[in-house]
Amino acid sequence: MMTNSRASSGGQAPAEDLEKQLRETIQRYQLVFRATNEVLYELNIETEAVIWNDAIFTQYGYDRTENVATLSWWAQHIHPDDALQVEYDMSEWLLGDGETWQSEYRFRKADGTYVDVRDRAVVQRDKSGTPISVIGSFLDITRQKQLDRAKDEFISLVSHQLRTPLTAIRLYSEMLEGGMFGKLSEPQQEQLGHITDASIRLIDLVGNILDISKLESGHMGSNPVPARVNKILELCISEVKPLADQKGVTIEYAPDESIDKVSVDSVIFGQVVHNLLTNAIRYTEPYSGHVEVVFTRDDQGYLLSVKDNGIGIPASAQQSIFNRFYRASNASGLEEHGTGLGLYMIKLMLETAGCDVWFDSAIGEGTTFYVRVPKGGMKAG
Ligand code: ADP
Repeated sequence: MMTNSRASSGGQAPAEDLEKQLRETIQRYQLVFRATNEVLYELNIETEAVIWNDAIFTQYGYDRTENVATLSWWAQHIHPDDALQVEYDMSEWLLGDGETWQSEYRFRKADGTYVDVRDRAVVQRDKSGTPISVIGSFLDITRQKQLDRAKDEFISLVSHQLRTPLTAIRLYSEMLEGGMFGKLSEPQQEQLGHITDASIRLIDLVGNILDISKLESGHMGSNPVPARVNKILELCISEVKPLADQKGVTIEYAPDESIDKVSVDSVIFGQVVHNLLTNAIRYTEPYSGHVEVVFTRDDQGYLLSVKDNGIGIPASAQQSIFNRFYRASNASGLEEHGTGLGLYMIKLMLETAGCDVWFDSAIGEGTTFYVRVPKGGMKAG
């Protein structure tokens, strides 16, 4: 008897505790649901019913009497230019096996104006993988978008405004150097040479900043078309030849004639190769440097490698080498001028084009950069 009664009271106490805990948890969630400025929602896939938190009324101005509790109400309030894409992306996600989803689109407020929102969601699936419900939140990012746009416009304006006078400085100093306005003394020639070099560096820097700003804001896309990659490589090599000759660095390239056309964005591909080649030349000791370029086909697609026998990248720097403005400690001794933007840009461009970039390096022995172009070529985006 004693045992029984103890057993039954012992069984009740944890049940009460559990109930209390459950009540508290629900209250806590209700508070979070009410307190946040983010719109939180739960969508029942089968019934298409949607539960919203208060933010849909307080932040977006909808009246509590309005029937907001359906998927169709939601879809009707997405900007018509974005709706199809959002619907497509969401159904692709739900049909697949992914757990999370993210999208940005314009959502209509009660006063008829649109705001930019960032929507993030997770799906709950049953054992067979069929989606049951979607729980998510969306946040008004209009201000952030406006600031991003203003920053991009500012960078683009400043860069364009800088380019024109810089190009003029370069042109006139080259003309002076070339003796077009009379013979110059040796020291004059030398000083003018510095002006020309500095203006070229500035033009490159401004161009890089402009490209990076376009890449970061998603305005520089990838448009691959079938192209003779061997020809692009030959062209890039001839462009950097004067720099290599000046430094006494040799460049070896034996085209694989069995490769005809590969689908690449030739601007991206050309810029990547150009940057890798100039780095290979710049970070190699004068008169002993050798650079080898190879473009081959394998079972994963195509592989470009640019190998040098230069200074190498210290192990401590290898993690950071693709970071913006990063330069390894051994770089400035050999090459005073550098911005640390080239590899960052390469990485952004190749990501846009669905390609990978990586390297092998040993200090004092050299570095090889690799670029993987997938089987079907670069990705459009
Ligand atoms: P920059 O060359 O203008 O400094 P990059 O982004 O092109 O900028 O390169 C970043 C850094 O990576 C360089 O400063 C240098 O430390 C290192 N690096 C890049 N390529 C090589 C190379 N081929 N050999 C050795 N170090 C390299």
